[in-house]
Amino acid sequence: MSTALSSQPRVVIIGAGFAGLAVAKALGDQPVQVTVLDRTNHHLFQPLLYQVATAGLSPANIAQPVRGILRQYKNIEVLMAEVSGSGKEARARGRAKRAV
Ligand SMILES: Cc1cc2nc3c(=O)[nH]c(=O)nc-3n(C[C@H](O)[C@H](O)[C@H](O)COP(=O)(O)OP(=O)(O)OC[C@H]3O[C@@H](n4cnc5c(N)ncnc54)[C@H](O)[C@@H]3O)c2cc1C
Repeated sequence: MSTALSSQPRVVIIGAGFAGLAVAKALGDQPVQVTVLDRTNHHLFQPLLYQVATAGLSPANIAQPVRGILRQYKNIEVLMAEVSGSGKEARARGRAKRAV
């Protein structure tokens, strides 16, 4: 996928939880570039965490690689990264500083 050179709009999704994956799948194969960022490389099926805690399932049973889940969509790239802030927040902080 050559996201850097594409003129299509880019959508950045932070987090590959239920919400992030639902949005990513809805945008799959649409005329947009999608970047999914998550601080882990896997999607965790939280409702079954108790099964792991009680040794009913192994951790691998409730964690799936994000890249594997979204592999079929050519317009989606998945990156492992921890987001510490957004451009919007930084711009707002910059405006507040200038106003002082
Ligand atoms: C033990 C347990 C049992 C549950 N059982 C049920 C149930 O039975 N039924 C039900 O409807 N709901 C249940 N829930 C709630 C359900 O799991 C959550 O509502 C749902 O996971 C929320 O989805 P989400 O996409 O908003 O966030 P999450 O699924 O929490 O996903 C957030 C993602 O964002 C990533 N992320 C977070 N911060 C950053 C960052 N700064 N940078 C990069 N990545 C980041 C995380 O790694 C994660 O992958 C349960 C939750 C728990 C903990």
